[in-house]
Amino acid sequence: MLKVEHIGIAVKNLTASNQLFEKLFGQSAYKQEGVESEGVTTSFFKVGETKIELLEATREDSPIAKFIDKRGEGIHHIAYEVADIGAEMERLKNEGFILLNETPKKGADNKFVCFLHPKTTNGVLIELCQEIKA
Ligand code: ZN
Repeated sequence: MLKVEHIGIAVKNLTASNQLFEKLFGQSAYKQEGVESEGVTTSFFKVGETKIELLEATREDSPIAKFIDKRGEGIHHIAYEVADIGAEMERLKNEGFILLNETPKKGADNKFVCFLHPKTTNGVLIELCQEIKA
């Protein structure tokens, strides 16, 4: 893994949280984007080398809605940038980690992503991500 690419934070109200994080960082989100397959709307802030992704559920069966029901708002996942997501998924599977998707899927911010089940990572949802090159 190359670096922490971003940290995902589950929020109830993206508009209110955008304003809050704008005040915190002294700058606006650089993009807002829906991921229909995940039932979320996201916004991204850049803070130095790392990004913060805010996630709001767009429907009740969204993983973010379920997360907030169970654990409330807060840190939802940590995303690591990888050079070769397919190879990294294979390596981690062989190490005994449970992958939540068997093939890389398209996530927000022009990335292929894969999530690891928090059961195998001390309760922390881990995202692997690799930029999609045009
Ligand atoms: Zn993410």
